[in-house]
Amino acid sequence: MKPLYLDYHATTPVDPRVLAAMLPFFSERFGNAASRQHAWGWEARDAVDAARSQVAALINASAGEITFTSGASESNNLAIKGVVARRRAGEGGSGSGNHIVTTAIEHKSVLDVCQAFRSEGLDVTVVGVTADGLVDLDALRQAVRPGTLLVSVMAANNEIGTIQPLAEIAAIAHAHGALVHTDAAQAAGKVPIDVVGSDVDLLSLTAHKFYGPKGSGALFVRRRKPRISLTPLIAGGGQEGGLRSGTLNVPGIVGLGSAAEICRLEMDDESRRLGALRDRLLDGLMSRLGDGVHVNGSMRSRLAHNLHVSFDGVEGEALLMALSDLAVSTGSACASGSQAVSHVMEAIGATGDRGRASIRFGLGRTNTADEIDLAIDRVAAAVGALRARVGSSA
Ligand SMILES: *Cc1c(COP(=O)(O)O)cnc(C)c1O
Repeated sequence: MKPLYLDYHATTPVDPRVLAAMLPFFSERFGNAASRQHAWGWEARDAVDAARSQVAALINASAGEITFTSGASESNNLAIKGVVARRRAGEGGSGSGNHIVTTAIEHKSVLDVCQAFRSEGLDVTVVGVTADGLVDLDALRQAVRPGTLLVSVMAANNEIGTIQPLAEIAAIAHAHGALVHTDAAQAAGKVPIDVVGSDVDLLSLTAHKFYGPKGSGALFVRRRKPRISLTPLIAGGGQEGGLRSGTLNVPGIVGLGSAAEICRLEMDDESRRLGALRDRLLDGLMSRLGDGVHVNGSMRSRLAHNLHVSFDGVEGEALLMALSDLAVSTGSACASGSQAVSHVMEAIGATGDRGRASIRFGLGRTNTADEIDLAIDRVAAAVGALRARVGSSA
């Protein structure tokens, strides 16, 4: 038997309704959305247009502000590299900027891009987070300055689930004329996102984190007040207004749109249900294991389906081995195979065993209360046994 899946931050299954929407576009409706001369192309183009509106509706954008990509890694690359390249070409952006700001808990597809720019001589400030995993706004205020091109802060963290105050972050950035990008891979479809209300300029999302297919994502690029222009990463046929050339992945885009629509309609109920399951999980672990269970990240500003806990008196590696019937990740999971504490755990000061002996639970659409009770049993038994072993050998 495969382990119980509680790793919905890593990826999610395609919702059956999404799959049903996608299937015709692999076979009988296989047209190229760029074929303007015949009905095969028109049908594909119509489906892409509908998906663009569905994605836009999820984040309160207009359809023309949505560019389809292969996922959040590509969207993050396009946003950051696109702004910097545009600046270097002497257009768009602000003044003579040579500075970008990001945070210590970003996804690697943001951090590595920023790191690469730093080695090319761009000035990069990596702002820290508080002990509960929220961006240090005072440090952000000090970091942003005239000449800051871009501030990139994730909407919600993929390990500890903390939700950042985007509107406040955008206000700080805009006060100095910097653009704001947010990696919303974990937030989109889970919490309400409003690109108008929060005033972000660029936003990345990806279908496979919200019950759509892998390899299909989008970048929101603000088109008015101000109109943002980016230098593309991929040149060619000029699809997506020239911002992302290449034949559109029509089934993937249809799946992204359908998944976005379902999330928009069901998000409230789903997060209430998953929040209750998450609380049941935490309460169960606390009552079975008592002291020595620590929640990582704010409980106040957090994705409803996330729980990240550390256990005193156990070793990270041994814990994961003992939990072989649960599909979860640990605080060392990001650099997979390595035992190093993740950069997110490090950033919140959860170093050493506190960082390693931790579990990320990501609950999702198919999980039931019975499954949560099973998970409580398994974790309590594993931690109890490991503590007893450590205790007896001490
Ligand atoms: C999953 C994830 C990504 C990468 O998305 P892909 O579509 O897999 O490239 C980027 N950022 C965050 C926060 C993520 O959780």
